[in-house]
Amino acid sequence: MIEFLNIKQITRRNKQELMQAFEAVLDSGWFIMGNALRNFEQEFAGYCGTKSCIGVANGLDALILILEAYKEMGFMKPGDEVIVPSNTYIASILAISKAGLTPVLCEPDIHSYLLDPALIEEKISNKTKAILPVHLYGQVCDMDPIMAIAKNFNLKVIEDCAQSQGAVYRGKRCGNLGDAAGFSFYPGKNLGALGDAGAVTTQDEALAEIISAWRNYGSHKKYENLYLGINSRLDELQAAFLSVKLKSLDADNQKRREIAQYYINHIQNPHIVLPASKNSDVLNDLTHVWHVFVVRTEKRDSFQQYLLDHGVQTVIHYPIPPHQQKAYKSLHTQQFPISEKIHNQVISLPISPVMQAEEYEKVCQVVNLFS
Ligand SMILES: *Cc1c(COP(=O)(O)O)cnc(C)c1O
Repeated sequence: MIEFLNIKQITRRNKQELMQAFEAVLDSGWFIMGNALRNFEQEFAGYCGTKSCIGVANGLDALILILEAYKEMGFMKPGDEVIVPSNTYIASILAISKAGLTPVLCEPDIHSYLLDPALIEEKISNKTKAILPVHLYGQVCDMDPIMAIAKNFNLKVIEDCAQSQGAVYRGKRCGNLGDAAGFSFYPGKNLGALGDAGAVTTQDEALAEIISAWRNYGSHKKYENLYLGINSRLDELQAAFLSVKLKSLDADNQKRREIAQYYINHIQNPHIVLPASKNSDVLNDLTHVWHVFVVRTEKRDSFQQYLLDHGVQTVIHYPIPPHQQKAYKSLHTQQFPISEKIHNQVISLPISPVMQAEEYEKVCQVVNLFS
């Protein structure tokens, strides 16, 4: 069986260094808010090119904390609106709801599957305070027009970088393209911890200061509380593991590009719609880190079963659009036909930095024989 994502194999490559990192933290006897966290925060801020990085417990909290901090700064208040793509993992939308704000869903572009800048303006009301573009599947959104709209309407831009660690847009890393960014380091992400982890990156030092207090009970100094914060800290062990894994992120992303390039060059099947790349030179297109390789087909169920029968494991990202989830009854009356079509047709083929040539070659052969 060609596994969709072999995390065991991914982690095994760094086993020795990860064990050493574990031992160093164990021996230090210091497990929360210590040197390992400070080191990783500095390294990741440096990697993204931002002044600040604040480690937090997970990607959902990263987004919630950014929104809570903007509320503390008086830039947003409960009931204000945030524009978010209708085609995303539910966490992007949930973060807005959890911060007491109202998500306003906006259709994606059918070719890129990303937030369509041409559709944003009609969603702006006098309550709109931010746009939350999601670099879904590992591909950076078209940020120039999004930033231009934000500037025009005095909106904050909060990037959801949970799937795009390391992607570069016009010479800058994601996480440094808007006003603030939320990252997830869930184990399956391109940069994954050995458990839950996340971070916020930003150039805004005032925002960073509030978030760094908010993640720790709203406290900037022991037993003094400035805000009604939460406990969302990134622990020393996960921070130490992330420092080890960050070193191979660029090489891992390049390996993903090689596989994506191979798929794009070799998959030929009239039933399968390949990802539309503006740039056919996938290897040199740094805007995409191929968190997942998503194709579309009208025969998704039979395609998935066929692949499984032929030894290829796949995953669907995602089967139910957020506005049709039971949890979002308030959105059930709205329709997002492009997003619905995407959710009905997408399926992700195996891609990972540890995949062998004979594996992705076999995937192509099997896909090409599907009818
Ligand atoms: C994974 C993910 C998140 C949430 O990250 P967690 O660490 O699981 O909380 C948010 N947004 C997107 C797009 C994601 O893929």
